[in-house]
This record gives sequence, C-alpha cells and structure tokens, in this order.
Amino acid sequence: MNPESVLRRETYPLLINGEERLSATRASFSVINPSYGTHLAHVAEADVSDVDAAVQAAQHAFDTYWSRTSGRERSRLLRKLADALDRRREQLAWLETWNVGRPITLTRAAMQTMLDGIDYVAGVSQGIGGQTLNVADTSVVNFTLREPFGVVGLILPWNYPLTLTISKLMPVLAAGNTAVIKASEITPLSSVELGAAVLEAGFPPGVINIVHGPGATVGQALVEHPLVERISFTGGTITGKAIYRSAADRIKRVTLELGGKSPLIVFADADIDAAVSVALQDITKNTGQICVACTRLLVETPIVDVFTEKLRDAYRKIRVGLPEHEDTEMGPVVSRAQYERVNRCIANGQEEGATAEVMIDLSGRDELRNGFFVPPVLLTGTNNKMTVVQDEIFGPVQALMSFTGEDEAARIANDSRYGLAGVVYTRDAGRAMRMCKALKIGNLAINNPIKATVDAPFGGYKESGLGKERGIDAILENTQVKNVRFSMR
Ligand code: NAD
Repeated sequence: MNPESVLRRETYPLLINGEERLSATRASFSVINPSYGTHLAHVAEADVSDVDAAVQAAQHAFDTYWSRTSGRERSRLLRKLADALDRRREQLAWLETWNVGRPITLTRAAMQTMLDGIDYVAGVSQGIGGQTLNVADTSVVNFTLREPFGVVGLILPWNYPLTLTISKLMPVLAAGNTAVIKASEITPLSSVELGAAVLEAGFPPGVINIVHGPGATVGQALVEHPLVERISFTGGTITGKAIYRSAADRIKRVTLELGGKSPLIVFADADIDAAVSVALQDITKNTGQICVACTRLLVETPIVDVFTEKLRDAYRKIRVGLPEHEDTEMGPVVSRAQYERVNRCIANGQEEGATAEVMIDLSGRDELRNGFFVPPVLLTGTNNKMTVVQDEIFGPVQALMSFTGEDEAARIANDSRYGLAGVVYTRDAGRAMRMCKALKIGNLAINNPIKATVDAPFGGYKESGLGKERGIDAILENTQVKNVRFSMR
C-alpha cells in the first residue's frame, strides 16, 4: 500500500471530549519508521492541561451518561466500534507495520483476532452482575452490586499497540467505566485511527479519550490525576513499579502487565520438532519483542545436542527483511534505542562468558542498511546466574541451557524475578501436571505455544505483574463490589 494514501499529512491529533485536536501548546513529536530509520509522521504532544481536559471529559461522560447505560447499550456501541475498525483494517495493519516494523502478514492477521475479541467482551459482559447472599441474619436481604470505578487511565507499550489497547479498553468500557488512553510515544499512530473509529461508531463525547506524549510527563500526569480511579498499565517492570508507588498515594486500583523471561522446558521424551518451532516463533514473531516470549530454553541433557542443531537449522531459514514484503517473517526492532539496547545486552552476555551465535549475516543486505535490524542470536554456554539470562532483552535473542530431571528444571525456571509465562514439552502427562504445580508462573502452556487469548485470564506472577487482563476476570477487575444490607423490617 502507498503510504501517501494511509498516512495523514497533518499532525496526528489527540482525542478529547469527542474532538480531534492539537495540544494546548501546539507541540508535536516525530514518529519513526524502524525499517528505514526515517520520519513517518508528526503527533500532537499533550501537556498536563490536555491530560486534565481528557480526564475531566471522561469524568463528565461517566457521571452523565456512560455509568447509567445498560450493559446491552454499551455492548451495542462496542460492536459498532468493531465495525468501524473492520472498515479500517487494511489501513490499521499498514500503520502497525510501518510504525512497529512487524510484517504485514502478521499485522493483518491480528485484525481479525482483535475484532473477535471485541465480540467476546460485548457478549459475556452482559451476563455480569452482583449476587444475593445467603447470610445468617434472616431479617435482611444482603446483596452485592458490581459497579464501575469511574475514569480509568490506560497506559500502553509499543510492541502490540492496537491489539493491547483494544484488549485493555473493552473490559473497561463494558464494565461501565470511561477511559483516557495514553499510547506509547514510539507507536501512537494506530491509536489515533482508533480514535477516528470511536467517533464514527457514535460514542458520546468523553467516553474514550486519547492523549499522546512521553511517559514522564503525560503518563505521570494521568497516573497522578485525582479523578483517575484506576490505572491499567502494560510495559516494563521498572515503569510498573514507579506507577504502583504513585498510585499508592491515593490507593488507586492498578492492573500491571509487566516484563518476562519465560522458560521453554523441553524434556527428553518431548516432540522435539514441535518444541523447536515454539522457540523459533518466539524469536521471529515481532522480532522477539513479545512479553511472553520464551527466551530461556531449558533442554534436558540427553536431547540437548539434537535440539540445538535443529534450532540452529531453523534459525538460519528465518526470512529477515522489510516488513512490507509478504514473505518476510522477521522485521526490525522498534527503535534505535531498542537496537542499541539489544546489541548491548548481547555484548554484555559475551563478557559474562556466553557465546553469541549470530545465525544470519545481514551485512550485505543493502535494503536493511538504515533500519534497526538485529539478526537472530542464540546464546550458548550460558547459566542462569548470568545477567543476560536474568534480564529481559526484548529482542531476537534466546539463551540455551541444559538440565537433568523435573526438580532441576523447575528450580532453574523459577530462579527468576519474573513469572509471566512458560511452556513445557513432554509426553508424560503426570510429569506435565507436576510441572504445572511446580512452576511459579501466571500463564502456562503444555505441548503448545503460549497464546494470550481474549477468553482466558492473562497476567503474571512475581515481578511480571498484578491482576488479570482478558477473560471474564478482566471485566470483573474493572468493577468494584458494593455490599448492601437491606432490612425487611
Ligand atoms: P515502558 O515501561 O518503557 O513504557 C510503557 C508505557 O509507559 C509507555 O506508554 C510510556 O510512555 C509509559 N511511561 C513511561 N514512564 C512512565 C511514568 N513514569 N508514568 C506513567 N507512564 C509512563 O515499556 P515499553 O518499552 O513501551 O514496552 C516494553 C515492555 O512492556 C517490556 O518490558 C514488555 O515485557 C512489557 N510488556 C508486557 C506485556 C504483558 O502483558 N505483561 C505485554 C506487552 C509488553
């Protein structure tokens, strides 16, 4: 597709109170295409007064309209939003490809998943309500109401901008809250078009507001705003901790979806080819910039050589290239900063004693020269004490280690400050079940890859997060429970 026909010529605006507009200061920032390292668009940069206007609009919409609507009416509007997004699906897929660097085949495929997700929330949310309780005092009727919080602040990372925004936003709205969204300043373009879809769907002004700019100013202002009752954050663990501390001041509710360093545990009896393909997909898809990606490959000693050879072979066949080409499997990382960070982590790993096996030589590829392309790297000779094995890298890098037996596998896997996700491959059902219990991990997959789907709860243990997104849990988390003791005397 021709960028001229998709990109807006003028500065990408904020969405405040049902109106696309520039920031109060008229400031803007530039967004980059990581495949070429070139300017893509200008985006309005909000300041504290814009954040305040967005929050005030959201509060007004909550008080006067949204909290009073029926679940059915809210679901009707969610489905209209899905229709408006569907009409833009090709445009949105291209924006994600140009802004994030993810191959067009993957950004297109993500659109249908996103629309199905809206349909799911619009359906199940209508069945959610309080309970009548069987209390000891028979002179009262005791019941609970599930009520929305009010204004919820949504803060997003850059790796899956649109799909993560939608999966956060739907339960927030379905539960009766209004929203102020802050997209990542690195990848804000698709969220502006989400705003256009919101207007087309006919949402009342203020129900959904979208502001742009750096986390330290715009994100912080949203977290600290006294009218924001709840923060739903996805991003790095260090940022998540800072937000948690700020939110504590006013006892704001928070959901935190943070970093990970997931293990793929492959026992000697496993389907080795299937396990290799999971490792491969985690390094390839989104260039390894996936929170749940298995970046610690734990392979049982008897099969470590055969697994490693198969993985090396698979790595060498990865089609690294420009993400707009339909046959590309792996594009660039998202930014120069991320490019430098990934390379720094690899170099640090080598200093710690790891061997970095660079699997594809990109040096002769002229078309990739100015983009932020990192070839897939397999780190061998590693152990779980190394920083490169403990820290999240968020790039196409995996560390390989061996183990003997279930206890050692669980010990290494759990020896991490993270507990987001993990995968176990074995043909022994009893062992699989024992590993399920032994692993301190929020999202586990046995003999298949990790997949965050809309209809199942998702969230990390330990420093990987707090609370659940997706599934019915996400809708419940966006409500607070009021208990009513109603006298019949
Ligand atoms: P980040 O923490 O740097 O930024 C995330 C968002 O927070 C951005 O919008 C940023 O502007 C904002 N922000 C930064 N400082 C802030 C502050 N002080 N107050 C309020 N907002 C602030 O993360 P990133 O680099 O954009 O994303 C990568 C990280 O996200 C990785 O660690 C990855 O594991 C994590 N992630 C987690 C999940 C999950 O579901 N667990 C999903 C995707 C990404």
